[in-house]
Amino acid sequence: MNIRSKLTLKFTLICTIILFFASSAVLFFSDNYRKQEFNMRLKEKALATARLLIEVKEVDSDLLRIIGRNSPTLVNEKVVIYNYLNEEVFDNNEEEPLEVTKEMLNAIRLNGELSFIRGNKEILGIAYSDRYNRFVVVASAYDKYGMSKMRNLRIILLIVMLSSIVVSLLAGYFYSGQALAPISKIVTEVDQITVTSLNKRLGTGNGTDEIAQLAITFNMMLARLEAAFEMQRSFVSNASHELRTPLTAITGQLEVILLKERENKEYITVLNSVLEDIRSLNRLTNGLLDLAQVNVDESVLTLKEFRIDELLWNCAADICKRQSSYKVNIEFENMPEEEKQLMIWGNEQLLKVAINNLMDNACKYSHSKEVEVLIGISVSDIKITFKDNGIGIDDKELQNIFQPFYRASNAMSYKGHGLGLSLTEKIIRIHKGQIHIHSALNKGTSIEITLPSVPAVSDRKELRTASSIA
Ligand code: ADP
Repeated sequence: MNIRSKLTLKFTLICTIILFFASSAVLFFSDNYRKQEFNMRLKEKALATARLLIEVKEVDSDLLRIIGRNSPTLVNEKVVIYNYLNEEVFDNNEEEPLEVTKEMLNAIRLNGELSFIRGNKEILGIAYSDRYNRFVVVASAYDKYGMSKMRNLRIILLIVMLSSIVVSLLAGYFYSGQALAPISKIVTEVDQITVTSLNKRLGTGNGTDEIAQLAITFNMMLARLEAAFEMQRSFVSNASHELRTPLTAITGQLEVILLKERENKEYITVLNSVLEDIRSLNRLTNGLLDLAQVNVDESVLTLKEFRIDELLWNCAADICKRQSSYKVNIEFENMPEEEKQLMIWGNEQLLKVAINNLMDNACKYSHSKEVEVLIGISVSDIKITFKDNGIGIDDKELQNIFQPFYRASNAMSYKGHGLGLSLTEKIIRIHKGQIHIHSALNKGTSIEITLPSVPAVSDRKELRTASSIA
């Protein structure tokens, strides 16, 4: 059932309940009023009869019956008078049956006045005393006109109630349709948004009500989705471009060398160049694989406790082995008081990739091919700074530096694919660490990473969760 039907039904149900209680109250109070009014008439009748019969000596029972027959009577009227011995002393209508028990008479005497209902008849009993006797006058009749008014009232209320239900059903359907119209509009607009039209935005109406808020929130989500799609699109096109460049170079070189027979020296030169391109391709695919691993396999990362300074020394040794011209100087900003302060809880392999990238960049982008690595220990974390005096990065370009495939304009003459820093940033983030970069063009760059030192066992679970949702 859709919301419109649900709202209409609920609205109608509420109206029906209100109408039912209001009609019941009207019926209840009207019936009470009718009873009171009829009892008054019975009382007048009973008292008039008693006064005439008991106080006016000239009037006897027969005369009173004749008077009664000729004066306006109630429907099925009967007035019976009992003396103190509960003996019937007068009955104005013997054909009309009325059962009055001893208990009823006693109760009337006790209360002074009592009313009963027997079948469709209403009965009123009054205790009446004169100087010599204590009588009970019982008057009964059928309230034909009152009952017929009540019947009428019941029919009117039923008709009013049924027609009100129909009206509320129609009104509810109309108003819920009006209230939900903006939502239907949003549904139609959202329906038209596809992967190729993520730039579309929903109308936000007056911008203040709940539905406008919904549209605004949805628009913000669309903006995030658009940015994510754009990033993915540019990632794929960048990746294919980076892959195509060395492949084109390899194909071109091989085609040219195969055009005619060459000397051995030429073959060796071309093969060396092709080998360098293949190495570059290899580095690129490794980088892409690392990035994919960080993005997909975070939950299955194996975490363990290890010394950060040892990892730094290992990375430095690796780098210097690969590039003999590179120089890595590792120093402590402050010496740790105990070994525990140097411990990190994380994935050693990934952190090695991140540190290698930072050391490699610092050496690669500086003329001296040298990097200064400073280890700062504090109570809760370990700060490692990679400092070089190289080409630096322009202020305007700094904000894009962590995007995959982004390379600063002054770095184009250096080998690279622009994947290292984005990978490093992801690795630091899944270790609940932080990375900050400060750079001045032609002066040098300083990249600072902060990693939490080995956490309590309970926090390690958190780190695992963070790494699985990062
Ligand atoms: P790559 O070095 O392969 O180009 P990275 O992702 O490691 O890719 O770096 C992205 C860009 O950031 C580099 O192209 C370069 O412009 C800039 N960069 C990174 N580190 C440094 C540094 N130490 N000095 C100057 N520029 C740097």
